[in-house]
Amino acid sequence: MNSARIYLDHAATTPLSPDVLDAMQPYFSQDGYNPSSIHAEGRRARAAIDAARESIAAILHCKPKEIVFTASGTEADNMAIIGAARAARVRGKHVVTTAIEHHAVLHAVRALRDEGFEVTLLPVDANGVVEVAGFVDALRDDTVLAAVMYANNEIGTIEPIAQLAQVARERGVVFFTDAVQAAGTLDLDVRALDVDALAVSAHKFYGPKGVGALYVRDGTPLEALIHGGGQERGRRSGTENVSGVVGMARALELAGGQRSETNVRVAGLRDLLEAKVTAAVPRVHVNAQRVARLPGISSLTFAGVDAEALVIALDLAGVAASAGSACAAGSLEASHVVGALGGAAASGGTLRLSLGRGTTLEQVERVAALLPPLVAAQREGAVLSV
Ligand code: PLP
Repeated sequence: MNSARIYLDHAATTPLSPDVLDAMQPYFSQDGYNPSSIHAEGRRARAAIDAARESIAAILHCKPKEIVFTASGTEADNMAIIGAARAARVRGKHVVTTAIEHHAVLHAVRALRDEGFEVTLLPVDANGVVEVAGFVDALRDDTVLAAVMYANNEIGTIEPIAQLAQVARERGVVFFTDAVQAAGTLDLDVRALDVDALAVSAHKFYGPKGVGALYVRDGTPLEALIHGGGQERGRRSGTENVSGVVGMARALELAGGQRSETNVRVAGLRDLLEAKVTAAVPRVHVNAQRVARLPGISSLTFAGVDAEALVIALDLAGVAASAGSACAAGSLEASHVVGALGGAAASGGTLRLSLGRGTTLEQVERVAALLPPLVAAQREGAVLSV
């Protein structure tokens, strides 16, 4: 990437860490063998997968055999939701999730609906937080699965996972959390969270794209979605992505080592950015500002502004940002997350600026100076074109 450009789209993806690439490199070449092979070359690849699994399990505080490697966060989400619901369908056919989940979850539950499951979509409050009382009320005798994301990818809100999971456990409901945005930033201790399943994706924490992992608590019934050679204890067939898995483990280790320091620094930069923008731009609303949220995501709703046009104007000015979320394959649809918040969040164009490890004070100051004239130009343009 051109170094003069400013990348504020870390929630869409993060650049691969050079240390992670170094760890992966041998598995593209001299050690790139099939871990299922019996020979020494294959055993070396197997050992690398085993070591990565142990390292990830240690970070999640689970057993290595409770980790299933997948080809994305999306696949991990689908595996947990469809796999757990199908495995439990004799007990009941009701699933609970929230209105602000990623499409990887929402479209997976939509697929379950087509199989005859009933789905309750929980609303969120104006800050994007799921209310525990509403969750309790939504659980029924035939509820078999609940899926609530750990942290939201558009507004950064952190959900009360441990509290929700405890309720689910008391009611015998399998609890899954999509931790794709949380991983690398928040604690992933599955015992403290008390979840039955948790999904992560390496490219959100400076690892490679196309590799994810699903934690599934020992004893949680799960039907496989991908059938074949029986890899991953039959839960996910297919020759393992050895370099990807090695990279994911290294990326998670590195993220853990610098988490506290990076979170404080990035949150400080985000707060500064928000303070400068709100001081200089009238009619702007900072979403989820007063609740627990990820340090790196700033969601700003500008009244009278088209978010896509603002993203394009920023891009032309050298800043990579996103409108709502970039995870819907460049879709121009209004964000379902912002829609679910209602109020000020839904009455304008919402810009997501997501900061990361490489974000500097100078970059934040440049963006804070760029935004007021760009927003003003958008508003004038909007008035002129009426
Ligand atoms: N869940 C959340 C919350 C996300 O932000 C993303 C990002 O794209 C995904 C799931 C999908 O992960 P992946 O891009 O690895 O398929």
